Parts: sequence; C-alpha cells; structure tokens
Amino acid sequence: MTDRTVHLVQLYPRDMNIYGDWGNTLTLKRRLEKYGYAVRLSDHDPGDPFPADADLLVGGGGQDSGQFRVQEDLQRIAPELRAMAADGVPMLAICGLYQLFGHEFRTGAGETLPGIGILDVTTVGGPTRLIGNIVLESPEFGTVVGYENHSGITRLGPGQAPLGTVRKGAGNNGEDGTEGARVHHVVASYLHGSMLPKNPAVADHLIRAAVERRFGTFDAEPLDDTLAERAREVAAARPR
Ligand code: GLN
Repeated sequence: MTDRTVHLVQLYPRDMNIYGDWGNTLTLKRRLEKYGYAVRLSDHDPGDPFPADADLLVGGGGQDSGQFRVQEDLQRIAPELRAMAADGVPMLAICGLYQLFGHEFRTGAGETLPGIGILDVTTVGGPTRLIGNIVLESPEFGTVVGYENHSGITRLGPGQAPLGTVRKGAGNNGEDGTEGARVHHVVASYLHGSMLPKNPAVADHLIRAAVERRFGTFDAEPLDDTLAERAREVAAARPR
C-alpha cells in the first residue's frame, strides 16, 4: 500500500447488489487507480465490524427481502454513517439502499422498515413497478443516464434537494419530476445500469470528495472518457 491509498467500502454486496450495481464499485476503483491512487476495497456485510476509516462508501439495490436482511445491521452502523455523511465522506446509495438512507420504507405488504435518516425522504411500496431507461438533468452533473426498476414511491421532505429532474422515466415517484436525493457528498438515486460507468461526472465528484478529504487536494489529469461519452449517447437515445 502506498500512502496514496483510498479505502473504498461496498455496503452489503451480498444482499444489495442487483442490475449491475457492482459496476459502480469497479468504476470508482478503476478511476482512482488511473488517477494514481491505490485502492483498498472492503465489503461490509451484516455482522462485520464497520470500517470506520472508510473514505468512500457505495451500496446498491436489492429486493425487499434483501432490505430486510440488512436492515438490523444498518441500524447498528447508522450513528457512524450519519456522522461520516455529516463529515463529508462521499457515499453513493442506489435504489434499495437509497430508500433505507431515508426515514422509512413501507413495503407494499404493509411492513415498515426504518431508515437511517441521512436523507429527508420517505418511501412507500406502490402498486406498479416503475421500469425502464431513465434520463435526468442534474444541476451539478448535467445529463445523467441509467435504468430504473422499483415499486417504491419516494417523496422528498421540505428542503431535501433531488439529484435532478427527470427528462425521461419515472424517478422518485413518477409524479413530481424529481429523481434521487443529494446532501453533503451523499448521492442517492434509483439509477442502475450500473450508474457510474456511464456517468463519470458523478464518479469523479465522489472521488474528488474522498481524495480531498483524505489528502487535502485532488489535482489529477482528466481521464479520457470518449467511450463513456459514446455509451451515454446510446443510453440517452434508447426508448423508455
Ligand atoms: N425493493 C425496492 C423497490 O422495489 C428496491 C428495488 C431495487 O433496489 N431495485 O422499490
């Protein structure tokens, strides 16, 4: 390990990792390496000691059953996660984990899963699944492309910023045009695909936040994202 090592932690890869969400971890790891950093990659699964020295956390989607399996452990580590989020540790929470980063998720079957309240959002299981390609406009990241598949309907509390505004697709609830949620350096979204390979601006925001927090500055040369650009164009042009 060099002294330029970034500790990347994947939350609940065993239970919360669908529709290619592992690609987010891989993208962060590869981009960090290309920027000249070594990456220590850890998994946090239920029961594991929580890696409090994490520089960057990423977690994916799951079935309701996966959310039930991680929920107790998530409550256990919630105080640390909340403190880290407030301290500027970057985090990416996709779909099922996004829902659990809010106040609660009431499933379609009527059970309530408490969240950890990093985000001022509440989710209820809806009657239909919201499935398909999605394109949104984010004030920070420009056009963001991906794929969504959820029945949860998420509503933002007052003052909670979304990640962006939906141009094609459903997003948080299919009604108010919002998608995802943003606070500190936490990015939460319904986008699979996976999200980061096709959205390098989001990946680099997370990387920059992690590196600046750990080492003070991030001054790496920009990467060649020609292929990602082409993938973005193809993805954005796909029918819903
Ligand atoms: N079970 C949740 C829903 O359907 C999350 C789905 C997911 O993570 N893809 O809303």
